[in-house]
Amino acid sequence: MKFDLHTHHDRCGHASDKIKDYIEAAIQAGFQVIGISDHSPYFAHELDQPQPGIAMARSDFPNYIAEVLRLKEQYQDRIEVLLGVESDFYIDQIELYRSSYEPYPFDYIIGSVHQTRGVSIFNRTRWKGKDDAEQLDEKKHYYELIRDSANSGLFQILGHIDAMKGYYPGFADIRGAESEIDEALKAVAANDISIEINTSGGTKDCGGWYPSDAILERALHFGADVTFGSDAHVPSRVGDDWELVRKRLREIGFSRWVFFRQKRKVIVPL
Ligand SMILES: [Zn+2]
Ligand SMILES: [Zn+2]
Repeated sequence: MKFDLHTHHDRCGHASDKIKDYIEAAIQAGFQVIGISDHSPYFAHELDQPQPGIAMARSDFPNYIAEVLRLKEQYQDRIEVLLGVESDFYIDQIELYRSSYEPYPFDYIIGSVHQTRGVSIFNRTRWKGKDDAEQLDEKKHYYELIRDSANSGLFQILGHIDAMKGYYPGFADIRGAESEIDEALKAVAANDISIEINTSGGTKDCGGWYPSDAILERALHFGADVTFGSDAHVPSRVGDDWELVRKRLREIGFSRWVFFRQKRKVIVPL
């Protein structure tokens, strides 16, 4: 059973091709399940589409849902198409986001911390001029937000939980946030949700996958489930490294991974 729950398409303004191209790529790659999970619009912003290169217009969101649901039906004999969304997590806007998703039959929602203290986690300059203590404080704060996202009850999957290393590979070497990471993983287990193994690290400076093996070992220790997401922004990346991830998870000691259908966990043996 091959599944990939994290894909984008041209609606967000920084991915190529249409949803159906990602579905076709998944069929070609021998997948049985493909999740569509474009970036959430900025629900709280006064403008309909404040950042056209980052996220779809708010007014386009119902069209997005309708298109996925139409394709789900159209492809049902060839592949299972799941309705997802990669949601930003802004702790002070969580109720607005919750109510914005409420009308729709999502199979799952990925919660991703893309900003902390108002700055993108991928912004290289956020680390400039910060001493060790300040860097550690940034890292702790990031994992506290991830823990809070797990406890929000809104998400079935937490996206790329060490993506701060994306353009700052030294992030992994900032020591002292181990207990914050553990608390986030314990919250994942306690809420019976999951983290994704996201294979898009190779599209950034850090290379490899999110999260690191060290974090995956802690996740296993605490009983946190894992799922798979390529985070494809081009159809050719759908399912990237799926077999390698499966192999690595088995080596670490995992015996299962999961996906979500109508927000219910589906367990797949590794
Ligand atoms: Zn994106
Ligand atoms: Zn993301």
